[in-house]
Amino acid sequence: MPELPEVETTCRGIAPHITGRKVKAIVVRQPSLRWPVPADLPALLVGRKLHGVSRRGKYLLLGFSEGSLLIHLGMSGSLRLVAPGAPPQLHDHIDIAFSGRVLRYHDPRRFGSMHWQPGDPAEHFLLASLGPEPLEPLFDGEWLFQRSRKRQQAVKPFLMDSKVVVGVGNIYANEALFMAGIKPIRKAGSLTRNNCLALAEHIKFVLQRSIDQGGTTLRDFVGGDGKPGYFKQQLLVYGRGGEPCTVCALPLKEIRLGQRTTVYCTRCQR
Ligand SMILES: [Zn+2]
Repeated sequence: MPELPEVETTCRGIAPHITGRKVKAIVVRQPSLRWPVPADLPALLVGRKLHGVSRRGKYLLLGFSEGSLLIHLGMSGSLRLVAPGAPPQLHDHIDIAFSGRVLRYHDPRRFGSMHWQPGDPAEHFLLASLGPEPLEPLFDGEWLFQRSRKRQQAVKPFLMDSKVVVGVGNIYANEALFMAGIKPIRKAGSLTRNNCLALAEHIKFVLQRSIDQGGTTLRDFVGGDGKPGYFKQQLLVYGRGGEPCTVCALPLKEIRLGQRTTVYCTRCQR
């Protein structure tokens, strides 16, 4: 599943190739994504010049002078740049053709989405209630400490709540909790200020490291048939249930917590 680092990598991968270019055509082969693709997308975009590409949480924002196109990659979506006239492959649902380059949306499971928001994209209903960006200074240990007071919820789903902080997906929550030595099932309200400082620091570390690794895949966004923006990572706990803890060698415990696979060390995490 594309997480924040993949979306950030996509943003950096496509931006230099389409920013400042005009939309020539929109081709919608399959409008049934998680939400129907707006039928007036061609009328809204064709002839408009793209001012820039940015990211908010896991949304990519294609900014035009009149508004923004919000793109979510869902469970299996990806964007790549192809040459005009390149034949579409299976699951290539939408083309946004710029002069000289086509931005092609591919999504086998069709859980992604495209929305048009006139004016300020932050006012869109999908973005309006989002918490801070994890890599920005507003998000820190003190923020987590204040937001977690009196919360009975387990700390892992608390971290994955986009109203608390955006973009901390399952992999990153597992990894950051291990690095901070905090058990995922602990009540968020029981975290000390020092726990929160460690957690915020490790969340920033795992996300930034992943973005840095993604940087090595940027050239994959242009040409070729590979899937851009997905990259292998060195993971300490996620996907390692039953294997030895990298610190104490005790087998890692795997449970379901809020329907998400959760892996932790019963000795190292308290
Ligand atoms: Zn351990």
